[in-house]
Amino acid sequence: MKSRQTFTSEPQLALFAGEEGQLQRLRQSLLSWFSTQGRDLPWRQTWDPYAIWVAEIMLQQTQVATVIPYFQRWMEVLPRIPDLAAAPQQQVLKLWEGLGYYRRALNLHKAAQILMQEQNGEFPKQLDQVLALPGIGRTTAGGILSAAFNQPLPILDGNVKRVLARLVALQHPPAQCLPLLWALSEQVLDPLQPRSFNQALMDLGATVCRPKQPRCGECPWQSDCSAYNQGQHLQLPMSAPRAMRPHKHIAVAIVLRGEEILIDQRPETSMLSGLWEFPGGKIEPGETAAECVVREVKEEIGIDIEVVAELATIEHAYTHFTITLIAFVCRYLGGEARPLQCSQVRWVSPAALSEFPFPAANQKLFPYLHAWLTEHQGKWNAS
Ligand code: SF4
Repeated sequence: MKSRQTFTSEPQLALFAGEEGQLQRLRQSLLSWFSTQGRDLPWRQTWDPYAIWVAEIMLQQTQVATVIPYFQRWMEVLPRIPDLAAAPQQQVLKLWEGLGYYRRALNLHKAAQILMQEQNGEFPKQLDQVLALPGIGRTTAGGILSAAFNQPLPILDGNVKRVLARLVALQHPPAQCLPLLWALSEQVLDPLQPRSFNQALMDLGATVCRPKQPRCGECPWQSDCSAYNQGQHLQLPMSAPRAMRPHKHIAVAIVLRGEEILIDQRPETSMLSGLWEFPGGKIEPGETAAECVVREVKEEIGIDIEVVAELATIEHAYTHFTITLIAFVCRYLGGEARPLQCSQVRWVSPAALSEFPFPAANQKLFPYLHAWLTEHQGKWNAS
């Protein structure tokens, strides 16, 4: 474990240790600011732990403005834990489609089923029981339990890390100082109003103490903020050096058989598991993209195809890598489609594609595909 002495910001932390008056001032000024400037968000209008849990999971890695319509639609379709537990996986993924990081949806689904078996469909109030659920880490658990049950538990999401790092003028990247930042979040938390305080802290980070151009003139913590007082509010927090993201070249086949298109479901253990896609894979050294799709479809699905036309090339970025994806329209030649390296295969009509959850990179192909099908209507096999 890292020694606390390694952090140069230790003196600033000690400042709070002996100054209950300063902590009170920080709490009161933040709560007072929140009472007039806090955001009115759909999941703030409820104390229902399920709704708050769904929102907390959606908000991991995703902006509030993007989450709102997804949250509202989700709560209309799956308003209670038993509804989620009983929903087919495809419906859950379809409701999540476009939010990314699909593992979050699969974990929500799995956790709801666990709660039906072990907690009679109720969301637990015990921190250890919440942390045992798939997809829930310490900050998500703190966010849910403080918002739903007013429990005095700290949070430390990206916004909160930035605010606290600036508050104490942390001279290291926050990712390297997590124990210290957790301790600070716990220290500043108002034990009497944890629900409001944590929400206020998140709002301060999202709307005032923004990553770039913080609005220090509107900040309730300006007089106590070490970064501001030292003129470092534009330089902090320090960022950790980023590893270069590898780039992959992928080729996929849109295989046509009469009026149908071939799609397959990604295997359970893979990234984006449970989503549907057009078959394909990584282009091997010395192989053309067109050769790649013929080989991949044979390996994955067991059928023979031939390339008819190149459809589109798109670029897409995931968190840890980027891809160039080249798509081909292909003709089915023969063989029985089987899930050799995927979970399921289906032949579907173009209209039915929208019923299946697809990853964003595949969705970028849909406009090209629809344009191609319109242009070649009724003569696919003759192309
Ligand atoms: S004064 Fe500026 S840098 Fe400090 S917490 Fe407020 S907005 Fe952030």
